[in-house]
Amino acid sequence: MKIYMAASTGFCYGVNRAVTTCERLLKSGVTLYSQGELVHNEEVVKHLRKLGLKVLNNGKFPLKPEQGSAVVIRAHGVPPNIESALKKSFERVIDLTCPIVYNVFRLAEKLEKQGKLLVIFGRKDHAEVNALCGRVKNYVIVEPGYDPSTVYSTILKKATKRIALISQTTMDHREFMDFAEQVKLVVDLEVEIFDTICNVTVKREEEARELATRCAAVVVVGGKHSSNTKKLVTIVEKSGKPAFHVRSPEELPPLQEFESVGIISGTSTPYTQIQRILDYIETKYEGEVIHNG
Ligand code: SF4
Repeated sequence: MKIYMAASTGFCYGVNRAVTTCERLLKSGVTLYSQGELVHNEEVVKHLRKLGLKVLNNGKFPLKPEQGSAVVIRAHGVPPNIESALKKSFERVIDLTCPIVYNVFRLAEKLEKQGKLLVIFGRKDHAEVNALCGRVKNYVIVEPGYDPSTVYSTILKKATKRIALISQTTMDHREFMDFAEQVKLVVDLEVEIFDTICNVTVKREEEARELATRCAAVVVVGGKHSSNTKKLVTIVEKSGKPAFHVRSPEELPPLQEFESVGIISGTSTPYTQIQRILDYIETKYEGEVIHNG
């Protein structure tokens, strides 16, 4: 079996910064909390919990956290009201929002001040969209699989013809650009498009398409709630090839029927997790590993 290993694997910059900062603080003895799970990867969260990280959920904060303890804001950010609540509860709040995500927040605030309606291409239940919507008032969220006529009538009901299209940083780039092209065709709207999708995820999308063309099947390694990992699975499936979304070798189906297999990962997947899966496939199926790109 030929095993094609994606060129871009492991943590992206924002996730790496968040994880390594937490590790450093925990190892130095700081009592540390995180607002929600730090990243969408069960293995990483488990590892940080073992080091002592306490995960806060459902917006409930301890009224009296241990003296000297700190709380971290994860890479996707939090809405300002949550940030204020954290500042009331904790002496020390460490903001690990990825700078790329933060720039999108700043851009959205600026566009709103210019009187534009924000049309956000993203998922309503995603932490980053939640954090973004907490910063602006005049917006419409459009999710993949949208019904164009409902979207247009919602936009047209808003009393402005000046609209700015932005996207959650981890959405499918092609889907966003297709959506943007369609909106541009709506007469009577002054449309500005801001491509806010993170380049790291665009690169992985392109590689997922390439691996799906080259291989008989693709293994996608990453957390079950990771938006960008699920997006890679969808891209491979849309190409007509089987995609196996796994977190460990135990979750892999039998692969002997495939002459070639690609391996790719989401941006919150640590390299060690990918390496375990690669080692397993290589040993079990006497694979020849080829590094893509
Ligand atoms: S995918 Fe991009 S925007 Fe998201 S955390 Fe990573 S580097 Fe930041």
